Amino acid sequence: IAALRLRLTDANQKLQDQANRDGLTGLFNRRAMDRQIDLLWEVAVAAQKPFTLLMIDVDNFKKYNDHYGHLAGDDCLRSVANCLAATVQQANDSELTSGAFAARYGGEEFAVIIPDAACGTHLGLASTIVEAVAALRLPHEKNAEWGVITISLGGVCADPASGKVGALFRDADALLYKAKEAGRNRAEVV
Ligand code: GH3
Ligand code: MG
Ligand code: MG
Repeated sequence: IAALRLRLTDANQKLQDQANRDGLTGLFNRRAMDRQIDLLWEVAVAAQKPFTLLMIDVDNFKKYNDHYGHLAGDDCLRSVANCLAATVQQANDSELTSGAFAARYGGEEFAVIIPDAACGTHLGLASTIVEAVAALRLPHEKNAEWGVITISLGGVCADPASGKVGALFRDADALLYKAKEAGRNRAEVV
């Protein structure tokens, strides 16, 4: 475990490189996340600590672009990203967890990784994030009944001993889909 911790420290330093950042939002990019997640998973297996993945997608974002324009869309993604980063930062600061991080996974999709804390904590964080984005009250008059920008979230907390990291993504995606189907602006977690 000590050797793994060392590799993790080293990886964390490399993560600070600008090449690992998403140009639009400043969050970590997909490449950085893909690289980091395998290592974090190894650490979780060795430490027998649970591991949480939250997949996040902005609701009705195509309509946002169509109505407000693509540049406004970009601003909106930055605001959502800042909100995610702040929530993750708070979790790290309050020592609910350490090493949690947020990444821009694709266009209007984000992922939050939370290693190393109890599952109950992670799941609480999932609804905190959904509520925090809605509380920004960014106008989106085409977003169904909400009228403001909202996100949907699918979250899984897994015992690394009992599965593979690939399955985690698949499961989180399925739950994200379920949150969309159930009406959006919500978290579906297990
Ligand atoms: P849902 O609630 O089901 O997620 O609906 P949606 O409209 O958000 O989903 P869809 O996948 O149909 O549309 C995603 C939109 O996100 C379409 C695409 O133009 C927009 N998008 C992706 N990346 C960016 C970006 O970097 N900037 C802007 N402004 N828009 C983006
Ligand atoms: Mg999407
Ligand atoms: Mg969307």
